[in-house]
Amino acid sequence: ESKDRLRVAVRVRPFNQREVARGCKRIVDMDGVTTYLTHPTDQADRKSFSFDHSYWSFDGFNEDKISGTNVADPSHPRGHQYCDQERLFGDLGRAMLADTFEGYNTTLFSYGQTGSGKSYSVIGYGSNEGIIPQFCHEIFRAIDENSFTSSSIDPIQFQVHLSMLEIYNENVYDLLTPSKSDKGLKVREHPKKGFYADGLSDFVVKSYSDIERLIKQGTLSRTVVATNMNATSSRSHTIVSIGLDQKRTTQNGEITITSVVNIVDLAGSERVSKAGTGNTSGERFREGVAINQSLQCLGHCIHALAESSSASSSNFPINSHKNQRIPFRDSVLTKLLMNALGGNSKTIMVASISPADIHYEETLSTLRYADRAKQIRTRAIVNENPIE
Ligand code: ADP
Ligand code: MG
Repeated sequence: ESKDRLRVAVRVRPFNQREVARGCKRIVDMDGVTTYLTHPTDQADRKSFSFDHSYWSFDGFNEDKISGTNVADPSHPRGHQYCDQERLFGDLGRAMLADTFEGYNTTLFSYGQTGSGKSYSVIGYGSNEGIIPQFCHEIFRAIDENSFTSSSIDPIQFQVHLSMLEIYNENVYDLLTPSKSDKGLKVREHPKKGFYADGLSDFVVKSYSDIERLIKQGTLSRTVVATNMNATSSRSHTIVSIGLDQKRTTQNGEITITSVVNIVDLAGSERVSKAGTGNTSGERFREGVAINQSLQCLGHCIHALAESSSASSSNFPINSHKNQRIPFRDSVLTKLLMNALGGNSKTIMVASISPADIHYEETLSTLRYADRAKQIRTRAIVNENPIE
């Protein structure tokens, strides 16, 4: 058993073209694990937040133009601490990989407003591979090198499998086996294993290229689902699950160890009014409300979990009685994340933020959300000989 806090990382991206065009000021700064946010019109109002990691992925572009209003210490050697995709994976993904081979479930969720860099961190673009592709490369490399296999007598038999789903308007869609049905999959509850999407396809994968092909296909059907529904993918939540089964022969006989890595690319956290067209009727509005419901419910769960963690650090792990007060059942997202947040998983949250003054309110709300999340405690166990 491994008792742990939910680990939280914050990552700030470079200015995007729109922010450059509008001559935005940078109001985010970092020093070590601390993230600072300065009010756009009141330099004296500077809030600080500390996390497990504060990742500086601002590239300095356009910094000259704003030097007069720069909140950073100009002598600070920014270039040295730029966090690229390899560093992100090295800090977060490698630990997840080791935990996976040990038999722990792990979950990483990517939180932030639309355009803040959620997908960049977990999926990536082009050669800037995010955590998922790097993780998939490394899981097969580790299997090939047999680098996590000390306690077994015979060679370990490994099986890797993959599923990918999307939650949109409180419906669950299988991204690897798209169906024609608008309603998608049912979420059911197993007495021991918890909530799951019934009938979700789970493909055995033999190599990195298998995974790459499936994830490409899944990303494509994410867009297709979105287009059919007249939506944008920023309104949906995507969960990629990579499972590892290990059959080991030990002195005490054969054991099976299973573990699952869930990587969750959440919908944009911005409020509906900002994201929408201003039109509060019809499909767009319903969609915004449903997403708010899911994310809001995630917020309520995080709030309740943080309270119960700090109220009873000695009384931890959270027992099932207490878990009943956490409103996991109020949304599909939190049902499927129930294990990740309140139960058997090591969990990481990556909160993405924009550096720009125009996003002050959203950035502040993201930092506060992340600050809450870091109080949550989790309790992961090795999944040996699991219940069928
Ligand atoms: P989200 O998924 O939160 O809507 P994206 O991940 O799609 O946002 O990022 C929006 C844009 O910002 C993309 O063009 C992406 O390439 C860029 N971007 C995001 N994070 C970074 C980063 N850390 N470094 C460089 N570019 C980034
Ligand atoms: Mg995205």
